[in-house]
This record gives sequence, structure tokens and C-alpha cells, in this order.
Amino acid sequence: MRERYTRVVKVGNVEIGGSNPIRVQSMTKTPTIDIKATIRQIKGLAKKGCEIIRVGVPDKDSALALGKIKKESPIPIVADIHFDYRLALIALEQGVDKLRLNPGNIKNPKHISLIAREAKARGVPIRVGSNAGSLPQEILKKYGGVTPEALVESAINEVKLLEDNDFTDIVVSVKASSVPLTVEAYRLLSSKVNYPLHVGITEAGTLLPGAIRSSVGIGILLYEGIGDTIRVSLASSPDKEVEVAYEILDSLEIRRKGLRVIACPMCARAHFPVGEIAKKIENKFKDYSLNLTIAVMGCEVNGPGEAKWADLGIAGSQNRVIIFKYGKIIKETDWKHVLFELEKELNMWKEVNTN
Ligand code: SF4
Repeated sequence: MRERYTRVVKVGNVEIGGSNPIRVQSMTKTPTIDIKATIRQIKGLAKKGCEIIRVGVPDKDSALALGKIKKESPIPIVADIHFDYRLALIALEQGVDKLRLNPGNIKNPKHISLIAREAKARGVPIRVGSNAGSLPQEILKKYGGVTPEALVESAINEVKLLEDNDFTDIVVSVKASSVPLTVEAYRLLSSKVNYPLHVGITEAGTLLPGAIRSSVGIGILLYEGIGDTIRVSLASSPDKEVEVAYEILDSLEIRRKGLRVIACPMCARAHFPVGEIAKKIENKFKDYSLNLTIAVMGCEVNGPGEAKWADLGIAGSQNRVIIFKYGKIIKETDWKHVLFELEKELNMWKEVNTN
């Protein structure tokens, strides 16, 4: 995997870029004015590992709700502002940790300067960027449509508007819902700026297709060393966005979060519903922070051998389950007691790790 170092931007107490871990972000899906529901959602996401949360700010009441949300939030808050510079100023007053806005949308240079000055005074970074769905007409004309070059030029124009105001605490994104377009755009962008990059496939879709599109797009980029923070955008619960983000990081072996459960695909030799049992194990041990791999294998004949690299594994027949460690059988039990026995094993591991 290629390493690429960007400059470091601080969002509250979380650093993005440089040699920091790839940060996982999500966005709340509650109305921001419903402060209680928004805080509840943020706390749930933080528990899942979300490190930075973006909150939509469609109006003044939403902007005024940010202070209370910020006070209760265990993770930094990003205010997502579209056109109204006054909302950005209120958000800053309310103590948000980062702004997402495009100065190009603010139009009046005085208002852009004001935002840059206020953000700088507070040490608040700004994410700017382009989105395939909202490129300026002149750029669309110049490139004959949405192209990687068009996305990058538009994003760089936004960057320049801030740089002209002596503001460089910037994160950049160039998003599209097409995976090849997004990948090409980020490759080009990363060759032109060394600001940290926020990477994602926008409007990726519902859970399964969205997770796959995001994984392919974000996966290619991260593997090439491009991207400092990721957001998986799904038409699904934000919890899923965070889960998918960690699966992507885990698949690339960039960041692990707790146990990894792997399972064989099953074949005619399988003696039990492998997927169902794997799901049960995932749910039961989801809060374990041990970096271990548990393999769920459908048969005793091939299972332990095929998964001998896994830290722990189970394989079984209808009545009997074997538990194995690095391919060697360490215990025999039945289906009723398998979770209990696995728990005992994991607790032993925990003890060794904490002593
Ligand atoms: S572990 Fe057994 S059941 Fe699973 S795919 Fe391999 S041979 Fe088939």
C-alpha cells in the first residue's frame, strides 16, 4: 500500500491527515432541531466508532441548536452549510469543530472573508469540494460535462477562495456517485494538493449496492494511499455507514476494530447454517476490542485446515462442534454451549492481553 502524507488538520480533538489513522465519519439523519434525537444518534454512532459527525444546517433554528448538540457530543461536530454565510457564522459561534461549505456558493467576497477570519480565529477547519451534481455551469461548459478534471478544477477553485483569505486549514473532497469518475478525480486531486482528503462515493445507494460501491471506490483509493478520512454515504441508518467504513478499513488491513468473524461459503459438506451462526457470533462479541479472527467453518474435515491461520475457529457436525486454535482442536462441545465456550476462550485472551 502506498503511503502519502498530507498536512494535518485538527477537528476538535481529532487529527486528520499526516500519519494519523484514516478517520471514520458519518452524518446524522435526524432533524437537527430535534436536539435530543440528534444527540442520541451521535452518541450511538460514537459508540460504534464514528470519530467525526456532520450535522445538516438547513436553517437558523438548526444552526442555533448546534451549541447544545456540541455540548453533549462525545465526538467533534461538523456543520454542513450550503449557501447562507450567516448560518456559518452562527455555527462558529455555537462552537462547532469544522465547517463543510463551499465559499463559491457564498458569492459575496466580503462574506467569504468574514467566515475565513472567524473560522481561523477559532482554529476551525473547513472542508470544501465539488460534487458531480452541482458543478458550476462555466466548468461544465469548459469540460463538456462532469469529468474528473472538471471536478478537480471546481474543488481547487474553492480551495483558492479560502487561500486568498489566508486560510489553509482545509480538507478537500471531489465526490460523484460513479465509482470510476470518483477514483479518477481523487487521483488527479491528490497529485495537485496536499491538503487532507475526505473520500467517499456520494449517493451510493441502499445498503448492499451502496456498501459495495463505496467499498470499491474508497477501497481503491485507500489502497493507493489516497484519503485521510472516509464517509460511506448510504440510504440506510448511519450505524450501517460506520459499520461498512470499518469493514473497508479492516479488509484493507488498515484499521481493525474488534473481532473479525470470517465464515466459509458453505458447500454440500456443511453440517449447519454457517451464516446464521457467524452472525450470532458477530452480535454476541461485537463489543470485544480484541484484534482476533474467529473462523466459522461448515465441516470438520476441511474447516480447521482451511482456517488454520485464524486465531480461533469452530467447525461442526449436526451434534458436535469443535473449537480450534490455529487449526488445532482445543475443545469439543455442542451447539447449545458453543457461544459460552467461545466466550470463555475470548475472556482468557482478554486476561492475557490486559495483564
Ligand atoms: S469448510 Fe467445509 S463446508 Fe465450508 S466450504 Fe470448506 S469444505 Fe465446504
